[in-house]
Amino acid sequence: MVTALSKFRIENRYVKLPKHFYSHVQPTPLKEPRMVCFNDELAEEMGIDPSEKDHWTRVGAGQELLEGMEPIAMKYTGHQFGMYNPDLGDGRGLLMWESYGPDGRHWDWHLKGAGMTPYSRFGDGRAVLRSTLREYLCSEAMHYLGIPTTRALFMVSAKDPVMRESIETAAALMRVAQTHIRFGHFEYAAYHKGPEAVRTLLDHTIEMHFPELLELPQAERYLRWLEEVVSRTARMVAQWQAVGFCHGVMNSDNMSIAGDTFDYGPYAFLDDFDAGYICNHTDQGGRYAYNQQPQIGFINCQFLAQTLTNVMDEDDLRRGLRRYETVYNSRFQQLMKQKLGLEQESEQDMSLIMDLFGMLHEHHIDYTLFFRGLSTRHARGNAPVRDLFVDRSVADSWLARYDERLASETRSPEERDTAMRAVNPKYILRNYLAQEAIQDAQQGIYTTVHKLLDILKRPYDEQPENERYAALPPDWGKHMEISCSS
Ligand code: AMP
Ligand code: MG
Repeated sequence: MVTALSKFRIENRYVKLPKHFYSHVQPTPLKEPRMVCFNDELAEEMGIDPSEKDHWTRVGAGQELLEGMEPIAMKYTGHQFGMYNPDLGDGRGLLMWESYGPDGRHWDWHLKGAGMTPYSRFGDGRAVLRSTLREYLCSEAMHYLGIPTTRALFMVSAKDPVMRESIETAAALMRVAQTHIRFGHFEYAAYHKGPEAVRTLLDHTIEMHFPELLELPQAERYLRWLEEVVSRTARMVAQWQAVGFCHGVMNSDNMSIAGDTFDYGPYAFLDDFDAGYICNHTDQGGRYAYNQQPQIGFINCQFLAQTLTNVMDEDDLRRGLRRYETVYNSRFQQLMKQKLGLEQESEQDMSLIMDLFGMLHEHHIDYTLFFRGLSTRHARGNAPVRDLFVDRSVADSWLARYDERLASETRSPEERDTAMRAVNPKYILRNYLAQEAIQDAQQGIYTTVHKLLDILKRPYDEQPENERYAALPPDWGKHMEISCSS
């Protein structure tokens, strides 16, 4: 089945770690699986023969293991909504094997929804079609927006009924990523096994995923590693803020040490801008609201740094953490300036940007359409922006101020618009679009999800034939409540 056409190499390295870091678990098979989506482009990148879909369907359903697969559930812990939970771990997903693609990149294959494990607690080990599709769609959308993320290789649905608020369809996702090591893996090592375990995990992580640091002396290597993880986290969150993405469950066990967007639950892209938007119905206190994400990213880095207190110098830990604010602020400003087409430096830029957020919030303006409208001003004038406002004079006064600032720019308006359209997406995964695709998939119709995926592959292109997918959401599709249950 790993045929001559396959161009990948298997090398399972995580299982070489001490045994307490994981448990061997066989997948529990699902019945009568169907392939819902298979990511041909990604398969090619990874060196996988995509013509073997029947085999992959059985693998996705846990009915068949390929030679070399050594499925394990990883042990981790973590802070959930600020509270430490020692009982976490892969409760429904298994690391199946690790591959290297033709370009030398390393991929963890994680089958989410593969059945119960020693870390399932009260869960059934399953994932449902609804949430599996949401993860598939969003991780691909994020990738094509240029935001670091885990990827979706394929997903199957099956006949097995799964009990949630109602009976739902079972599904499983083959999620792939450079690594599935989370901040929570370090919390487990530090709080349950001690400094030697932390060092072992850290050395493994650096060797596998940060090999460029290997030549440095140990103390410097560890410091540079922490700085790198902190910086990647800060940059990732800055990208979320700039595109209007809410993760929804930024627990430390949902933070990847590679700086990838990880574990898609009740996420949302903002429609109408609302700084305090809470996309997770269960998050009543708004801990993970849109405007809290930058701060929470930092708190998670603190959780990570705390696990290193016995293997690193305290000053180095502080130094590593200080990276967060600097990197976040500079990346966020840079992204917002790109979104506004500003190349020159001006002291007033931050206040122009903050006032813009204030205006979008106060007048409930669609975040994506606003910036896209701003990116077509040369061709279409002010109407696409003004028409988003009930009181057009509000738009006019901000635009007048913006135009004053543009006077110190040197690019031609056409050039600026083109550059702005390359950073301000026209197509994002609005919640209602995901919902339409899910409803059809639940009826066994998968064309809707395939069409949506095609559109989301080119988020910055005009795609005039797909205008409907860029429009404001219908009333039923605004502020949909998504819970953690998945
Ligand atoms: P999540 O909210 O998906 O990030 O998961 C938090 C923890 O709960 C992790 O340890 C998961 O493996 C576990 N978990 C979530 N859903 C299930 C389930 N249906 N069965 C078993 N464990 C689960
Ligand atoms: Mg999780």
